[in-house]
Amino acid sequence: MTAENAASPEYWDDIRAVAHCLHVHSGPIVVLAHENPDGDALGSVLGLSRALRRLGKTVIAPMTVPRYLSFLPEPGELSAPLTEWPAGALAAVLDVDNNDPVRVAGADLRTFGGPVVNVDHHGTNQRRADAGVVDPSKPAATMMIADVIDALDIPWDEHLATPLMLGLSTDTGNFAFDSVSAEAFECAARLRHHGARLGWLNEQIRQNPPSYYLLLREVLGKLEFQHGGRVVQTRVDNEMLARAGANWDDVESYVSMLRNAEGAQLAVMAKDYGDRVKFSLRSRGPVSAQNVALALGGGGHVPAAGATFQGSYAEAREQLDRAIAAELSRVDALGGSAQG
Ligand code: 5GP
Ligand code: MN
Repeated sequence: MTAENAASPEYWDDIRAVAHCLHVHSGPIVVLAHENPDGDALGSVLGLSRALRRLGKTVIAPMTVPRYLSFLPEPGELSAPLTEWPAGALAAVLDVDNNDPVRVAGADLRTFGGPVVNVDHHGTNQRRADAGVVDPSKPAATMMIADVIDALDIPWDEHLATPLMLGLSTDTGNFAFDSVSAEAFECAARLRHHGARLGWLNEQIRQNPPSYYLLLREVLGKLEFQHGGRVVQTRVDNEMLARAGANWDDVESYVSMLRNAEGAQLAVMAKDYGDRVKFSLRSRGPVSAQNVALALGGGGHVPAAGATFQGSYAEAREQLDRAIAAELSRVDALGGSAQG
C-alpha cells in the first residue's frame, strides 16, 4: 500500500481501498492522530470526522487540542481519550503510523482487535494496516484526506475544506517549504474553491496570549549557539513556565523561530518535564533533523522531527549533543556543510 508518486495508480488504489473500508463499516469509527497534535493532525481528524458524519456514520474523535488550535473544533466534535473500545469499532489512524501505538493519542491501539485504516505521510511508516495510504511526497496528511473525501463522493463545503487547509498550511510552514509541490498548490486551490477560510485560519492561529511572550523571554535567556552557529538550542522547564504563567502549549512554535537564525542548520527545543525530555528538532540545508531524532529513539520528517528521552535533562543533553555531532560529521564528510 505504498505510493511514492501521487499520480501512480497504486496511490489511487490505496485511496479507494481506504474509502471503501470506511464506507462499508457499519459500527462506530474512532478517528485518531498523533500525540501532541499539530494543525495537520487536527485538520485530518476534523476533516474526516465531519465527512463521515455526513455519511451517517457514528464517529468518535478523542483528541486533546492545544490552546492555539482550540478555535477550530466545534462543541461536541472531539471527545476525551477512550478508556475502552466501543463494540464493533474501526480505527482510522491519521498523520501517524498505526504500528507505533505509543505515538497514537486518544485510545490504546495495543488493546484493539478490530480493523485499522491508516492515512499518513511519514517516510518511517511501516505500512501495515487493513487499508492504508502512506505517501511521503505529500507535505500534509490532509491532502490525502481530501482525496479520500473525493473517493467517498461527499459534497464539499467550507466546513470540510477549512480543517484540511489548516493541515496543508501548517505542515508547509504557510506554503514556504521545498516540500510544497505543484500538487500541494493544486490541492490548496481545490480547497479554496470549496470555501476554505485561509485568511481566517491564519488570523486565528497567529494570536498569542501574553504568557507566550513572557515565556519567550525565559526561553531566549537559555539560548545557546553551538558549532559556529550551525546549531541553535534552548530549553523549557516547569519553573520557567511558572514564572511566565505559561503552559506547555505556549512552547510549540518557538523552534521554527529559532530555525530562522542566520547560518543555523539545526534548531532544538528541549521540553524538560523533569522525568523525561521531549526534543523538537528542525533542520535546514543538508542537515537532517530526522537523523538526530532517530539516534535518540524518535522519528519524523527530514526537516522536522522529534524524540522523547526518558531521564534527566543532563543525561538527555549528553545524548543529544553526541547525536548532533554525528550528524554534522556525516554532512561534513559529504562536503555538504554549505547551505543547501
Ligand atoms: P514536533 O517537534 O512538532 O513534536 O514533531 C515534529 C515531527 O516529528 C512531527 O512530524 C512528529 O510527528 C514527529 N515526531 C515528534 N516526536 C516524535 C517521536 O518521539 N517519535 C516519532 N517517530 N516521531 C516524532
Ligand atoms: Mn503531518
